[in-house]
Amino acid sequence: MSALDSLHLTAIPPEAEALRAQVRAFLQDAVTRIPAHVRARSWGGYDSNLSRELGQRGFLGLTLPKEYGGGGRTPFDRYVVVEEFLNFGAPVGSHWIAERQSAPLILKYGSEEQKRSFIPAICRGEMYFCIGMSEPNAGSDLASVKTRATRNDKGWVLNGQKIWTTNAHNCHCMIALVRTSGTGEDRQKGLSQVIVDLKLPGVTVRPITDLSGDSHFCEVFFDNVQLAADAVLGREGDGWEQVMSELAFERSGPERLFSSIVLFDEWLAYVRTPQGRTPESVRLAGRIIAQLAPLRAMSVAVTGKLARGDSPVVEAALVKDLGTGVEQSIPALIADDLFRRPAHEVPLELLRTLNYVTQAAPSFSLRGGTRDILRGMIARGLGLR
Ligand SMILES: Cc1cc2nc3c(=O)[nH]c(=O)nc-3n(C[C@H](O)[C@H](O)[C@H](O)COP(=O)(O)OP(=O)(O)OC[C@H]3O[C@@H](n4cnc5c(N)ncnc54)[C@H](O)[C@@H]3O)c2cc1C
Repeated sequence: MSALDSLHLTAIPPEAEALRAQVRAFLQDAVTRIPAHVRARSWGGYDSNLSRELGQRGFLGLTLPKEYGGGGRTPFDRYVVVEEFLNFGAPVGSHWIAERQSAPLILKYGSEEQKRSFIPAICRGEMYFCIGMSEPNAGSDLASVKTRATRNDKGWVLNGQKIWTTNAHNCHCMIALVRTSGTGEDRQKGLSQVIVDLKLPGVTVRPITDLSGDSHFCEVFFDNVQLAADAVLGREGDGWEQVMSELAFERSGPERLFSSIVLFDEWLAYVRTPQGRTPESVRLAGRIIAQLAPLRAMSVAVTGKLARGDSPVVEAALVKDLGTGVEQSIPALIADDLFRRPAHEVPLELLRTLNYVTQAAPSFSLRGGTRDILRGMIARGLGLR
């Protein structure tokens, strides 16, 4: 494979574009009254009523089969809808992880019973999942996870701890990567994924407060949690391979370049006013757009690969690494622009939005895999490692 021809310029098909007007009309009504500094949380924001309504309108599970309550449509359809959620800063965090990665994972590896129990409820926006990969001392080095499920006569007994688990305090279930045999030294061998009902006795979820004062990720403790025999997702011992395929879902979406888009839009609205417009700000707007536009084209090209049934693992890592760099630079560039102006002229809501995004931005290149790890994957894809 030539490194240069792996991402073809790709257009979103018109039938997928047709969905844009529908989802825009709905979001215009549903979320534009929410202040920008709250919408800036976007896929980190939580609103289970909105998630349910999106499910009822058929905007969730678009790529999942109709027999499990999905839309039976293409990754391009989902791209369009998700892009609009992000552009509006819709608080879609309740269902985000379940719809993005848990449902496709269950579809790929789950038993028929697991598919029927979970996927339709996820498509209805009624069931939320979190990802239990990270542990203290095993963040990037996932193969060293120590949380362990041990067989007993009722199924499995779970002991250990996960950390940084987004939205665990609001979720019904976690898909956890755990050791079912061997030791931490065995690395990839002996790992499995289990579905954990977070209401089970022995599960403790403790939210962690971040820099901005939000509590969106958690520590999760398992103390002799009794799981049923059918809690294993996929084949016992195949957890490593399954997690790698799950991470491709996590890294390939447009959310890896749109995290500062509500701030950018709010700032653009100010720059469009006679008071807000300066030659420097117009140049800066062009500079930011000139970075976002090709990145979006790359993200659409990754979607094209998904639509053709490819697994664009390296390309998704590339877009995530470049995308998070740009979305992290936006608050700093906008701050430089605004703090050159008299403070009383800058709209307060714009400053509040800038304040939030500035505090959240350091995490953009951590969540979903750190920059160094992605660059290692890209180097491997280029045959350099
Ligand atoms: C907002 C947010 C939400 C998150 N949500 C979740 C979630 O829902 N579920 C979940 O499981 N996790 C979640 N995480 C955890 C996230 O995936 C981890 O923080 C990340 O994988 C890094 O792990 P770590 O923090 O333990 O850092 P470490 O892995 O200890 O890394 C520390 C530093 O060392 C570098 N490094 C590590 N290994 C190497 C290497 N081999 N080569 C070069 N450099 C290396 C890293 O790049 C980093 O700069 C979330 C994190 C954030 C910030």
